[in-house]
Amino acid sequence: MTYDLLIAGGGINGCAIAREAALLGLSVLLVEKDDLAAHTSSASSKLIHGGLRYLETYEFRLVREALHERERMLAAAPHLIRPMAFVLPHAHSVRPWWMVRAGLYLYDLLGLGSSLPRSRALRRDDPRLAPIAHNVGGFLYWDAQVDDDALVRANAADAIANGAQIETGVGVTGAERGGAGWHVFLSDGRTIDARAIVNATGPWVKDFLARIRIRSDSGLQLIKGSHIVVPALWEGDHAYILQQPDRRVVFATPWRGSTMIGTTDVPVKNPGDAGITPDEIDYLCGAANRYFTRQIAPADVTATWSGVRALYDNGAGEARKVTRDYVLELDTRGAPVLSVFGGKITTARALAEHAMAKLGPAMGFTARPMTRDRPLP
Ligand SMILES: Cc1cc2nc3c(=O)[nH]c(=O)nc-3n(C[C@H](O)[C@H](O)[C@H](O)COP(=O)(O)OP(=O)(O)OC[C@H]3O[C@@H](n4cnc5c(N)ncnc54)[C@H](O)[C@@H]3O)c2cc1C
Repeated sequence: MTYDLLIAGGGINGCAIAREAALLGLSVLLVEKDDLAAHTSSASSKLIHGGLRYLETYEFRLVREALHERERMLAAAPHLIRPMAFVLPHAHSVRPWWMVRAGLYLYDLLGLGSSLPRSRALRRDDPRLAPIAHNVGGFLYWDAQVDDDALVRANAADAIANGAQIETGVGVTGAERGGAGWHVFLSDGRTIDARAIVNATGPWVKDFLARIRIRSDSGLQLIKGSHIVVPALWEGDHAYILQQPDRRVVFATPWRGSTMIGTTDVPVKNPGDAGITPDEIDYLCGAANRYFTRQIAPADVTATWSGVRALYDNGAGEARKVTRDYVLELDTRGAPVLSVFGGKITTARALAEHAMAKLGPAMGFTARPMTRDRPLP
């Protein structure tokens, strides 16, 4: 049998693409070398968000798309995603009041039509600012929290329910073009045929292209982000976004009865370099201690996780300024291979739609959006 699509990678992007493609009627085989959501897609900050901080790097397209996807995802998976209020304590030395206020207005504007409340200023005596040591005012705005691992599995389940085949513990070791498609070599010794390949291997995207001997001039930055979990630092189900003197922001969010704090931004060389360092633990403890009355130390950390972001290199240099937007690269020097650079949990559904629109002309089918209003199992 010849599959229409061989998808490599069972993270959020691979599973969302498998779902979209299966609903379009394509025959799909997705192979994942480890387990579904085994890597970046279960190591995120677990936010379905527009990305307030990306406004500072003028990523308006990404923020607008992400805010619209936030709305769609809240409707599609209310069992996995819940609205969350974010408290932003004012830190004048990092960003003046007017700048944050203007950024939040723009965030509201880009998300026009959202079911979530608009942002507003918080007075110093608001109870949600009580856990903060300094008597400052602040802002309140809304995003959402997701169980990222479960979201990947829900996408996979819907793909399977619509005919996709998904195999875990099987990697692609190589592939070559032949006839009208690809011969794909799998780690269990099989060779399968597919008309096109989707390379959704996240931080392994360039490694995968090398395996199938496709040259790509696109640059990739691998940036590690880590989180720590500590006993709950406040009561209530709202979260905090904490501005740091280096202008980064650190999220402190409720997670399964505890508080999770993240994230760092550390360049790494290899996709497998996902492990937290003592320096990152110190940084995150310091970031929280700068704000909360309840102080923490590395000894309070009960769990950690790290993931590697695969960011398309737009030549920005500094990690926090590299684009967070995704790029889909299609190689049609023979049977097609589509590679995914970057992406967010939030925008995976939209990315899958764009992936099909890009592959359609190369494979001779017309893509239609299949999942915009479709609930996730
Ligand atoms: C610290 C951090 C925090 C983040 N926070 C958020 C957030 O709050 N909200 C948000 O929307 N986004 C967030 N993101 C971004 C989001 O997590 C990622 O963009 C997304 O998970 C990437 O998914 P992916 O499917 O491309 O990659 P992955 O999840 O890494 O999946 C790629 C898969 O490919 C497999 N693979 C590799 N090579 C092969 C091969 N040869 N054969 C078969 N399989 C292979 C790997 O085993 C892996 O499972 C965050 C990212 C990080 C790192």
